[in-house]
Amino acid sequence: MATPPRECRAVVAATRALTPEILEADLRMDDPPALAFAAGQWISVPFGPKTVRAYSIASTPRRPSVITLSADVAPAGLGSVWFRGLAPGVGVTFKGPLGGFVFDRGDARRPLMVAEEIGIVPIRAMLLDLDETGGARPVTLLYWVRDPGWLVYDDDFQSLARRAPGFRYRPVVGTSLAEAVAAAAPSVDGLVAYVAGGAATINATREVLMARGLDRKSVKWEKFYG
Ligand SMILES: Cc1cc2nc3c(=O)[nH]c(=O)nc-3n(C[C@H](O)[C@H](O)[C@H](O)COP(=O)(O)OP(=O)(O)OC[C@H]3O[C@@H](n4cnc5c(N)ncnc54)[C@H](O)[C@@H]3O)c2cc1C
Repeated sequence: MATPPRECRAVVAATRALTPEILEADLRMDDPPALAFAAGQWISVPFGPKTVRAYSIASTPRRPSVITLSADVAPAGLGSVWFRGLAPGVGVTFKGPLGGFVFDRGDARRPLMVAEEIGIVPIRAMLLDLDETGGARPVTLLYWVRDPGWLVYDDDFQSLARRAPGFRYRPVVGTSLAEAVAAAAPSVDGLVAYVAGGAATINATREVLMARGLDRKSVKWEKFYG
């Protein structure tokens, strides 16, 4: 059963820079003291009556009292400025959990996961959650970044690939993501895709898969921007 979203309060417990422009923040929940959510869901941070920024929860439901967010602050808009200002002790209010970009465990199809840069956040949460709860299954992950310096969480996926025989990890650095999607899905029979990132990546992935015969609804997506 999905948890209804509610207004929440938390306090920053720690921050880390994964790269100069990709930052993580751990938020210790205050009200409620633990946030029930599904891996892949996000929170909404208010900046004014009609202005919000969304952040996917990077951590997994197994740790509901401290949630982690992970942000690309290169866009340098108000969300990025806010994220850069997070430091231990800073209070945060948000609404959550939100969203339906979650892994469907009842779906027997082969998942193809496609992430563009920081779009990796909800997909990594789903993969870690599956791993932690013993629900591992054959999954292919295509993870596109502009250059190797943006390949955050690579260690997690390399480690998962060593431990989970069915997990295929394909980092795609700088080259065409659409070609990588085409190569990873020579057949779309029994396939379901989960795609997160900018609109152009979602559209390009959908086009490649639909041209091979996949129906539109079998491409689940989370649009971060664009
Ligand atoms: C459901 C959902 C979940 C999200 N989860 C995350 C998350 O976990 N981590 C995260 O960093 N962001 C996430 N985002 C995006 C986030 O909400 C902000 O848009 C982002 O942090 C930029 O905010 P900003 O105010 O700095 O810039 P904005 O004013 O929002 O954007 C400035 C410009 O940069 C573009 N842009 C925004 N983000 C990117 C990007 N990553 N790469 C290239 N161009 C971009 C915008 O289209 C716009 O043209 C999510 C968005 C949605 C809708």
